[in-house]
Parts: sequence; C-alpha cells; structure tokens
Amino acid sequence: MHESKVVLVTGGGRGIGAATALLYASKGYTVCINYKSNSLAAESVARQIQSAGGKCITVQADVSREEDVARLFATIDKELGRLSVLVNNAGILRPQSRLVDMSADRINTILTNNVTSYFLCCREAIKRMSTRLGGKGGAIVNVSSGAARSGSPNEYIDYAASKGAVDTLTKGLSLEVAAEGIRVNCVRPGLIYTEMHADGGEANRVERLKSIIPLKRGGEPQEVAEAIYWLSSEKASFSTGNYLDLAGGL
Ligand code: NAP
Repeated sequence: MHESKVVLVTGGGRGIGAATALLYASKGYTVCINYKSNSLAAESVARQIQSAGGKCITVQADVSREEDVARLFATIDKELGRLSVLVNNAGILRPQSRLVDMSADRINTILTNNVTSYFLCCREAIKRMSTRLGGKGGAIVNVSSGAARSGSPNEYIDYAASKGAVDTLTKGLSLEVAAEGIRVNCVRPGLIYTEMHADGGEANRVERLKSIIPLKRGGEPQEVAEAIYWLSSEKASFSTGNYLDLAGGL
C-alpha cells in the first residue's frame, strides 16, 4: 500500500504556516499542524484539510521549549509514523523599537522563539531522517526573512538578527547532513499579508510599504507556501543550503 509522506509545519495554525499545511495536504501529505496557543485557528485549518479528505493532527507545543519539542516529535512518531519533511516556520515579532530601548528579556524571547526552536526541531528531525542513524532521508525548510538581509533598522534588529541566525543554521546544517540523505534549505519572505505585523505594532505595515516593493504589492502566504513545498520536493532534489528570496524584488 502507498504510504503518504508526513510533514510537520511548526506554527501551522495561522499565516504562512496555515497556507503551507493546506498546500502539503492538497499534495497528499499527512500533516502535523503545531501551534503555541491559538487552538481555534489550528483546529480550523485541520477541519479544512479533513473535509477535503486529507489526514492531519494538531499538536500544541511551544517549540522554544525542549520538553515540548520532544513531546511534539514523539506524538508524530506514535500517531503518524516516519517524518519526511520539517517546515520550521513558527516565529514571533515584538513591537517596533530601536536597540537602545530593548530589554534583555525581549531579546532573549525573540532568540529562543525564532532560533532555539529551529535548532531543536532540526535536531529531532535529523535523529529520525538521517541515513547515518538508520533513517530514510528527508528535507528541512526553514522560514527565514528578508530582514536577515536588511537588518530592520529602527524596527526590530533583534528579529532581523534571529533570521540571520536561521540563514547560518541552514548553511551549516545543510553541509553537516548532506551525505545523510537530508537537504536543508530556506525561504526568505519579504512583506507578506499575515497577522504578524500587528504583533510588530503596525497591522497595516505591508500596505504602508508596498509602494517600495518592485512588484508594487505585498505577498500572499500561499506564494511562500509554494516555494517551501518546491524546496522540499523531489523537483528540488539538487538544492541544498540555498536561500530562496520571496520579496517581490525588494
Ligand atoms: P503569524 O501569522 O503571526 O503566525 C505565527 C505562527 O507561529 C502562529 O501559528 C503561532 O502559533 C506560531 N508560533 C509562534 N511562536 C511559537 C512557538 N514558540 N511555538 C509554536 N508555535 C509558535 O506569522 P507569519 O507571518 O505567518 O510568520 C510565519 C514565519 O514567517 C515566521 O517565522 C516569520 O518570521 C516569517 N516571516 C513572515 C513575514 C511576513 O511578512 N509575515 C516575512 C518574513 C518572514 P499560535 O497561532 O498558537 O499563536
């Protein structure tokens, strides 16, 4: 019997993660939707997948916490079987601020949620995918940001630096596991219409800035999802350690 492939999308209840979970389900994947606190949003995505005949589960886990990550992966092992794809997507933003006004608490919160979480999920995925460790290979896609290139001055250097770390994680890890059947790539979205900008203190940020985007519009979560899916698919079988910019030319 043909077994469907399993994907974990962290932060899959809203925004880019939700669009990604829906896309993988439409391609026949069994999907694990992880979320931190918004169970209603995650359940709504799960219902959409299930009503279209797809298979998915939702798992609450704060991926910045090691014990939660262990529980998340153990649940996938038990309920869905072998993991083929990890999409590290969960991320947070704090209100726009200059560095002089940032507390250590804020900086550490950004780094643990946006960087430590990706490291921990990569570690658990590799334990399961690595041919060196008895696995059958797999693909990891990290969601970074155009902020890693711009540095986000006067808005959130902490967030931008966390995404710079994601880029470096992608590069180093891709080389570390290249001979173990695992490809590691990342996407770097620009201004995408999601609720994240409200967390940054400016819900209409994409509208305000869209005139400086060469394509003259913000991006949709589905456009990022397509790139994530492609990078994890066999169509991208010779791609590892790469960054795919999705920023409308910005
Ligand atoms: P979003 O709409 O705010 O959704 C964020 C998701 O991440 C939510 O599902 C949230 O869970 C989850 N999450 C946050 N912290 C978590 C944690 N510690 N553990 C588990 N889940 C957690 O954000 P988005 O815009 O779709 O962003 C998705 C990714 O794209 C992020 O990595 C972001 O940095 C990146 N990105 C976004 C843009 C943009 O313009 N929107 C641009 C570049 C990069 P709950 O639903 O439970 O809160």
